[in-house]
Amino acid sequence: MEVTGHAQQAAWRERAVPAVERVRPGLWSVPVPMGGPLRWVNAYVLELAGGGLGLVDTGWDADDSWEALRAGLAGIGGGVADVRGVLVTHMHLDHVGLAHRVREASGAWVAMHPADARGLAALTDRSPEASTESEVAFLVGLGAPEDDARADAGTPAQREQWRRLARPDRLLEDGDRADLPGWSLRAVHTPGHTAGHLCFADEDGGLFFAGDHLLPRITPNISTHPGGDADPLRDYLHSLDAVDGYGTGEVLPGHEWRFRGLAERTRELRAHHERRLAELLAAVRAHPGSTPWDLAAHLTWSRPWSQYARRMRIFAVTETDAHLRLLASRGLVVGDGAAVPTWTAAHLR
Ligand SMILES: [Zn+2]
Repeated sequence: MEVTGHAQQAAWRERAVPAVERVRPGLWSVPVPMGGPLRWVNAYVLELAGGGLGLVDTGWDADDSWEALRAGLAGIGGGVADVRGVLVTHMHLDHVGLAHRVREASGAWVAMHPADARGLAALTDRSPEASTESEVAFLVGLGAPEDDARADAGTPAQREQWRRLARPDRLLEDGDRADLPGWSLRAVHTPGHTAGHLCFADEDGGLFFAGDHLLPRITPNISTHPGGDADPLRDYLHSLDAVDGYGTGEVLPGHEWRFRGLAERTRELRAHHERRLAELLAAVRAHPGSTPWDLAAHLTWSRPWSQYARRMRIFAVTETDAHLRLLASRGLVVGDGAAVPTWTAAHLR
């Protein structure tokens, strides 16, 4: 893998946020700051034939992120009012978060995959109380004690901002061409990180907008959700296969820095998940009859497990569940089918 976003990587090492950068004539990356370890989201700005701008992703829905996006657009001689359309790689708050403000300020359309449009509707159309209860029930179903599930899921008030997220004006399926004049970007459906995750392949310039499907440093979180995919990790591994053919271009990810060597990165990501699956299978063998909640505590994480709580613990447990479901699809573990299922290694002949 060859890093091409040197300024982005240097900023990362200095614990800073990089500057706006011109990637190609008429194409810029605008880093939009966000809290947490990822530090920023890459919004991409495309100059359109006949005037106006297109966006790939927008940033977290917060006032300082909004100011950073506005300042980024001003710095390249444009403004939010010039935006004609927003392509959303996926429904997560750091990518779709500001789309509703962009649409309000410009009248731009917002486009995403139908599966993420449905996922988003589950956040915007339900009361924060109902969405909290659904997450608590899901965690209890993975073996969490109810008190821990409630503590991790947080209060309904923390979900209030989810209801503002932009519902799409347009839907994009795999292979559809994005309506950005002067560019030929095709949507590539890459389910896994979310059920409706889209990458965008530029057929002329050898660019690949990867969203969170491929990141150069970290492995994207692949986890189960209430009402989500039955086997998201299997989908994700298929989606890695699906993008291998775009191997020669420059990869423009949703976080971190640009790189070349897409096929090498997909190999590393596959190998990572196979190692993780082997570790989990060993844990199931050592602790038969365990829930995903129990098993997560037996895996190695980037910090001691006892420090995990709240959303970090939810990510870890639902990621463990995603790996368990793939082991089950492969016939390596079996669930007992109880209301809170426990898992045991399959007896292989
Ligand atoms: Zn993201």
